Amino acid sequence: MSRKSLVDESVRDALIEERKTERRVLVKELSTLGGMIRGSLLHTKRKCGQKGCRCSTAGELHEVCLLSTSVTGRRNRMTYVRPTEESRFRTAVESYSRAWEIIERLTELNIADIKEGK
Ligand SMILES: [Zn+2]
Repeated sequence: MSRKSLVDESVRDALIEERKTERRVLVKELSTLGGMIRGSLLHTKRKCGQKGCRCSTAGELHEVCLLSTSVTGRRNRMTYVRPTEESRFRTAVESYSRAWEIIERLTELNIADIKEGK
């Protein structure tokens, strides 16, 4: 074996080791992500429908937070989010987003491994 290919091989081994470590860290983080929710939070203004409410009399609409979740072949599903629930919903939506990022990165690492016959 030539000197050059020995160097290439050690570089390759180092890269494989790096991917292994990165994968371990990512899988561990993935396992710590708690409740996940696929969707997004949005704030909008609405009328509540109650007679005599300032939203109908004075046109002062109520601010509401909604969770919008896409459903295949249908209109997005909307879930009303109470102010007291908002931070938990936000954490769950962010966890889903982070899980997605992790899976994207794992995909790259796994492709590289298979391509190198590992
Ligand atoms: Zn109202």
